[in-house]
Amino acid sequence: MSEIFELEKELLIPFFKRQRVVFVKGEGCWLYDERGKKYLDLVAGIACVSIGHSNKYFIERVKEQLEKLVHVSNLYYTLPQIELAKKLREVSGMDKFFFCNSGTEAVEAAIKLARKATGRKRLVSFTGNFHGRTMGALSLTWKEKFRKPFEPLIGEVVFAEFNNVEDLKKKLSEEVAAVFVEAIQGEAGVYPAKEEFIQEIFELKEKYGFLVVFDEVQTGFGRTGEWFAKDIYNVEPDIIAMAKGIANGFPMGAVGVKDYVAEKVEAGDHGSTFGGNPLACTAALATIEYIEKNKLVENSRRMGEFFKEKLSELGFEADGFGLMIGFDKEKAFDFVSSMLEKGVLVNATSENRIRIVPPLIISREEVEFAVERMRLSR
Ligand SMILES: *Cc1c(COP(=O)(O)O)cnc(C)c1O
Repeated sequence: MSEIFELEKELLIPFFKRQRVVFVKGEGCWLYDERGKKYLDLVAGIACVSIGHSNKYFIERVKEQLEKLVHVSNLYYTLPQIELAKKLREVSGMDKFFFCNSGTEAVEAAIKLARKATGRKRLVSFTGNFHGRTMGALSLTWKEKFRKPFEPLIGEVVFAEFNNVEDLKKKLSEEVAAVFVEAIQGEAGVYPAKEEFIQEIFELKEKYGFLVVFDEVQTGFGRTGEWFAKDIYNVEPDIIAMAKGIANGFPMGAVGVKDYVAEKVEAGDHGSTFGGNPLACTAALATIEYIEKNKLVENSRRMGEFFKEKLSELGFEADGFGLMIGFDKEKAFDFVSSMLEKGVLVNATSENRIRIVPPLIISREEVEFAVERMRLSR
């Protein structure tokens, strides 16, 4: 099986730096490699597999839909799309939805909606933000290494310093269509916005008339111990981008907007061939229903607190909310390898930062197992 490493080199465009392990199956919070060794998964496909691998309810619902209808196009009506929109309205408080297939696509849709609804061009993003890798979303992504080689990107994007109100004020005017907020910066290593910073953005919105877009691609669907990060800050954005945890790893994205945003849109302004197909919508619906029925938002909050407590006993000062946790660790990439050897998957977002985003079903015993292995890997 080690020939797979060679074949990957030969056959795949080298965009990814991978850990040398081949996973063949999963169950709950655990993954199995081709030799049968098991690993506790604190990465969850990067915050995607929210209700666990091989979840029975998920399999049953998706299988049932798979046998009925996979795809027909948005030229026609299908039932799961409407059912999912109803459910999303309940959990997100947004009024209307558009479905796509990934986080970056949800951000692209948000950019177009913001420009169309306001008739303005300028977009404000923050230092440290990550919004995706297609040209629009990339334009709003802070890291130069991701952006520079692909310029020119879309114009009229300015960056303000994260958590710095004074700097934000300097970047605002009546030309700003939208401010893009990643309330808890995930790819940067789990750095939450300050409460006052978010409150101030919403006050400035009244003055300048821009829209506030929350990129909840990583923070959504119980990840933070609330349904959405906006609920931690108790604010109502005009637009929310969603993906990752929405469908337990099935490719799915969505953007939710308030009615006054949707009112400015006409048919043809945006679209997607695959977006909102019956299979993807059923996968999302099953995931959200399972989160609700099993009170996983609460579990995320409780286990997140427990995890942070245990980490602090080890001397790690953890940031984040719910099961979206980051902490400083020197030689983070070595730590990732050492943990892998000991049967736990964690992720390094930089040379000195570890991110933990396990399935929301994780138990106390599993958290204890993870922390014990960390003690041995320090
Ligand atoms: C992962 C992520 C994206 C991009 O999602 P993809 O599905 O990889 O395109 C956008 N925004 C945030 C906040 C993310 O964490």
